[in-house]
Amino acid sequence: MTTADGPVPRKAGARSIAIVGVGKIARDQHIPTIATGEDFALLAAASRNAVVGDVECFETLEALLAARPDVECVSLCTPPQVRYADARRALEAGRHVMLEKPPGATLAEVQDLAALAGAQGVTLFATWHSRHAAAVEAAKAWLAAREVRGVEITWKEDVRRWHPGQEWIWEPGAMGVFDPGINALSILTAIHPRRLHLASADLYFPENRGTPIAADLAFHDPAGHPATAAFDWRQEGDQTWTIRFDTDAGEALLSDGGARFTAGGETVFAGPDHEYAGLYARFAELIAAGASEVDLSPMIHVADAFTLGRRIVVDPFHF
Ligand code: NAP
Repeated sequence: MTTADGPVPRKAGARSIAIVGVGKIARDQHIPTIATGEDFALLAAASRNAVVGDVECFETLEALLAARPDVECVSLCTPPQVRYADARRALEAGRHVMLEKPPGATLAEVQDLAALAGAQGVTLFATWHSRHAAAVEAAKAWLAAREVRGVEITWKEDVRRWHPGQEWIWEPGAMGVFDPGINALSILTAIHPRRLHLASADLYFPENRGTPIAADLAFHDPAGHPATAAFDWRQEGDQTWTIRFDTDAGEALLSDGGARFTAGGETVFAGPDHEYAGLYARFAELIAAGASEVDLSPMIHVADAFTLGRRIVVDPFHF
């Protein structure tokens, strides 16, 4: 790796990593997080149409794996529909693998990858970036000491603002509005003191699209309390990413996608964004421990929504 000033020294003790799928999230988060962290050093990238400056770039992961046996880890930032084949390729080549969320297009393919990682003795990390939002751990600790009597998720954003021109997100396997909605479900499954399961779903499909633009979900709570989620991609103006809890100590609210937690109107915890730094730190920990982490519970709720969901056809969607 070189710059105008000469070779860039490899970070001492850092593991070598390659990025696959150089698009929005790779540029917004993965590449800068790897560059500023100590755990990994970016050595290469694979993308059909894009390159990353200062590292060796390939059009396919296959070519990268063949040419760079020195790359120990691969971080897959492609859309979920195409992730399985590359993940399998990297695991078969003995590399540690990190998957963007959602970890794949189906539950079975991710289970297959987890088994393969185990057989190969390498790490597979299925990430849920929202679990690393600043206030999630504080919310979990606070809720663990209370009785949760209800939960209401509201995750409403403008798809044109956050996913401009992304056609893949409307195709089967990409989950439509569950692409952001699964972030809320990843938090819920991490912090709710009980295991909930889906009871019903209304799914709103634009008449010209293969995935929903909105969804209303109801969950069964074994304690008999209400639990709902409303996801909508048609929200203009203010964006809403909140989870409201009714508890024996009053109302609590996790807001800003998990960055702020308030209880009884008082801030319990709020902090800056460090989601991707948290993910890469966890990946490094898992590799060092010789372990994998593949929690499919958020994706099970989504799969159940497609199984149980009532299909409601709404206006066509055009970017
Ligand atoms: P994106 O920019 O549309 O796609 C990432 C890159 O993947 C593309 O630029 C493309 O690069 C490559 N790619 C390979 N096969 C593709 C295919 N069949 N269709 C489209 N692109 C393909 O997507 P993204 O927003 O980065 O999202 C990627 C993953 O990250 C998704 O699972 C998403 O849920 C997750 N994520 C996104 C965000 C966000 O803010 N956007 C936040 C958190 C997580 P080449 O054409 O060069 O191959």
